Amino acid sequence: MNLFEEYGLSSDLLKAIAELGYTQPTEIQKQTIPYLLSKDEDLIALAQTGTGKTAAFSLPILEMIDSSQKNVQALVLCPTRELCLQISKDVAGYSKHVSDIRSLAVYGGSSISEQIKGLRSNPQIVIGTPGRVNDMLKRGALKIDQIRWLILDEADEMLSMGFKTELETILKETPKDRQTLLFSATMSKQVEAIAKNYMKGAQKISVGGINIVKKNITHTFVVVRDRQKNNGLRRVLDANPDIYSIIFCRTRVETQSVADFLMHQGYSADALHGDLSQSQRDTVMKKFRLKNLQILVATDVAARGLDVNDLTHVIHYSLPDDSEVFIHRSGRTGRAGKDGKSIAIIRPGEMVKFNRIKKETSIKVEEMEIPTKEEILLAKELYLSAKLLNSDFNSEEFELSGTPDLSQISKEELYKRVMFLELKSTWEFYKNEKNIAPIDKDEKSSGRESSRRERPRRDKKDTKENKGGSGRNKRSRKQGNFTRFFFNLGKRDNVNKVTVIDLINRNTKGARADIGEIDIRDKFTFFEVDSNYADQLLKKVNQLSFNGKNMSLEIAQ
Ligand code: AMP
Repeated sequence: MNLFEEYGLSSDLLKAIAELGYTQPTEIQKQTIPYLLSKDEDLIALAQTGTGKTAAFSLPILEMIDSSQKNVQALVLCPTRELCLQISKDVAGYSKHVSDIRSLAVYGGSSISEQIKGLRSNPQIVIGTPGRVNDMLKRGALKIDQIRWLILDEADEMLSMGFKTELETILKETPKDRQTLLFSATMSKQVEAIAKNYMKGAQKISVGGINIVKKNITHTFVVVRDRQKNNGLRRVLDANPDIYSIIFCRTRVETQSVADFLMHQGYSADALHGDLSQSQRDTVMKKFRLKNLQILVATDVAARGLDVNDLTHVIHYSLPDDSEVFIHRSGRTGRAGKDGKSIAIIRPGEMVKFNRIKKETSIKVEEMEIPTKEEILLAKELYLSAKLLNSDFNSEEFELSGTPDLSQISKEELYKRVMFLELKSTWEFYKNEKNIAPIDKDEKSSGRESSRRERPRRDKKDTKENKGGSGRNKRSRKQGNFTRFFFNLGKRDNVNKVTVIDLINRNTKGARADIGEIDIRDKFTFFEVDSNYADQLLKKVNQLSFNGKNMSLEIAQ
């Protein structure tokens, strides 16, 4: 008897999970399923995507739901359309042998009237983003006054995306005797406030070691100076010609800048982040799933809903703060029994953080050097020659009519000529490029980038890179936290990214402050700046005006 059977789940659910290949519950499922099956109290679970939390809340709810009733009994709120669809797909999978269970996903960027029509089938489970659920409530289309379960999935994300008001409005519409389950990767102040104000007697659980470190993933890292990061990335990509990869960045600006750089250099790459419209994100994800794109440059949040099985590599262009996020990112490769590679491209200044991640996750990491042009050409040649010799070529079936007289050329010469055709552009690009010298131990352990070497080596290529992307990424960054600000002007005041960056630059003294995410909404803006500059900015910006309107800046709650 496996544990799922011991929990007393019905045979229909057991059959579905056996078909999905689940043999034992994950840690979060062990803690959540028996709890929900036996208790009415609320639950706060600290857990991330990748822990099996969807099944943790779905299975007990599916077990207890009253399929004969027509009203909505469970409402699942999650931050993005992609997650909505993922949860909805999972719920459909778990309930595939249970009759009369209906669920509906509702999210922005798609026709609301079609989704309202979907309510006519009387789904017992509604999975939605806070914005769309709120719109449907306002229209009187959706009724949630009789729900038994409210699930707040990725609560921290929903709040940091600015859904606080919507969440509170929705919570107020739900009955007092509901059971609320809150899942969150972090317990931010905002999450705590929601838990305090809207949950009762909640038990807290936390899943340690949540993203299991997979053994079939090899971890490597390479250290490059900030100004050579794009060049280093390019060499890593070139040395892996079969690559199908997600490159993770920290901010939307950085994501776009790296994607722009790769696209300008002719790579099959694109960006995925929250500044894109829903349809742009859909198009990019579709292209990537279909492998019409080889490289996706993404923020952690945007990549969450993307389920792709056969990534060859995960590249960390910049490190996350949280080691769990590092493991979760890396776990995107090495799926379905395949081997995977995780490569971190690190600035000397990030070594302290990387050492902490290594320690906290106990992963084995090997340092590699930036591939030289000789290694890159060899890797490409080996890849092509393997293709040449292993293709399903059948000389009898494949007839050519224009074959010239080859008697004057040796086999070796012919091979070289074929390779030249394929490798010409790489060869020409690297012909006059200097290899990137490895960084010495002292510089790595000091965590500082050598300025002595920085200045004279500002060559043409780097200037080109800087032009293509955001100049901010090229400045030496201070380690440290960002402070998130709320700024009272937004799109309708003609604020754009350049205005925000300019405002920050003008009002911070000394070296330029590092800027994180900039999120411009219609009436206001959120942006992140290195916390060392927080006081300066607050003092100065609050005395200014823009287009006749007084500026107001405060630290975002
Ligand atoms: P989630 O955290 O809900 O996004 O789940 C992460 C992945 O784990 C999904 O691909 C699930 O299908 C899978 N999964 C969930 N529970 C189990 C389990 N008990 N055994 C194996 N895989 C699971």
